[in-house]
Amino acid sequence: MNLHEYQGKEILNSFGVEIQRGIVAQTPEEAVEAAKKLTEETGTGWHVVKAQVHAGGRGKGGGVKLAKNLKEVEDIAGEIIGMNLVTPQTSKEGKKVNQVLITEDVYYPGDSEPEEYYMSVLLNRATGKNMIMYSTEGGMDIETVADETPHLIFNEEVDPTLGLMPFQARRIAFNLGLSGKAFKQMTKFVTALYKAYTESDSSLFEINPVLKTSDDKIIAVDAKVSLDDNALFRHKDYAAMRDVREENPVEVEAREAGLSYVDLDGNVGCMVNGAGLAMATMDLIKQAGGEPANFLDVGGTADAERVETAFNLILKDPSVKAILVNIFGGIVRCDRVAQGIVDAYKNMGNIEVPIIVRLQGTNADKAKELIDNSGLAVESAVEFQEAADKVHKVLS
Ligand code: GDP
Ligand code: MN
Repeated sequence: MNLHEYQGKEILNSFGVEIQRGIVAQTPEEAVEAAKKLTEETGTGWHVVKAQVHAGGRGKGGGVKLAKNLKEVEDIAGEIIGMNLVTPQTSKEGKKVNQVLITEDVYYPGDSEPEEYYMSVLLNRATGKNMIMYSTEGGMDIETVADETPHLIFNEEVDPTLGLMPFQARRIAFNLGLSGKAFKQMTKFVTALYKAYTESDSSLFEINPVLKTSDDKIIAVDAKVSLDDNALFRHKDYAAMRDVREENPVEVEAREAGLSYVDLDGNVGCMVNGAGLAMATMDLIKQAGGEPANFLDVGGTADAERVETAFNLILKDPSVKAILVNIFGGIVRCDRVAQGIVDAYKNMGNIEVPIIVRLQGTNADKAKELIDNSGLAVESAVEFQEAADKVHKVLS
């Protein structure tokens, strides 16, 4: 689950990470109130208006702007709220901005050289360890830095049994070229950031830029945070931060129905039980010359009702040209799933997309019979390869 910048910063702050302070606003009037309050609290004269959407690169798309007085706060907020923000990380249509974060200006006017660094904490799947990735080249696309100047990106791997050791935090501050007060502040920053990452059960914390001010404060100016969905049950307060307006509506509906669904770009919808079989099925579709339109695991207890819900979800995707159902009846009986498919098909009326169904396991024969005798445009397959061939046939 992804968070907004303001939510990520709230979590960071609760673990003692210094942040650029801000107040979220839904309207230009609220933006002005927020700016006044920030001036009282922080003494800031200028403010930054920042679009809150789940996408990076907002600055480049015109979603982050400096306001030098309250009139500008109001005007810029009015411009950004409601706009469709297009950034290098959104689709061509962009993302609708529902709210803005009004922040203090932490780049002091007249400050010649504020330093911007990059820092993220994530899991290195190859080594199975958390890793702090950081660079002196902050404020820009880390992908560009990786392409053009890869030697300016550093990694610090953390031993899970020891946690982040003080010498590691010092090495990071050293590699960033810091000394004196800034060095000390950076070690504190890294230590608090790592604690925030582990204790919130996150899968990513990316701070770009981390700012060093001319008076040697180290501040998180941005925050991109992804929490691990599987750990949300023990963070009810974070779970409540979910903003479904930012999420794919079909994925939201699937989650509410207890199905695991991920939208993909292809043309063959798949309905499968079990993540392993789902992955094998996606490979099968590729081999047959198609591309999976989604990942959908209806779970080990796929009953008729879940099957019908799943069908509805898949058919919402207009790029679906065929549906492959591949279900192993271990706990569930195949004939019940088959009945579910037939019922769903009938209930939904004019489905024009060809459906290929492979049911294996308990009562597979009965299931095949049910499908073949249903009089519907549903093809049954018994073998894996047979299913692939049939997908190939309907696509070509
Ligand atoms: P992103 O474009 O989505 O990554 O959004 P960021 O939060 O990283 O902001 C984009 C850019 O806005 C930063 O790289 C800074 O250059 C600039 N920016 C952010 N905060 C301030 C600020 O307080 N003052 C000034 N002058 N610029 C800022
Ligand atoms: Mn950023």
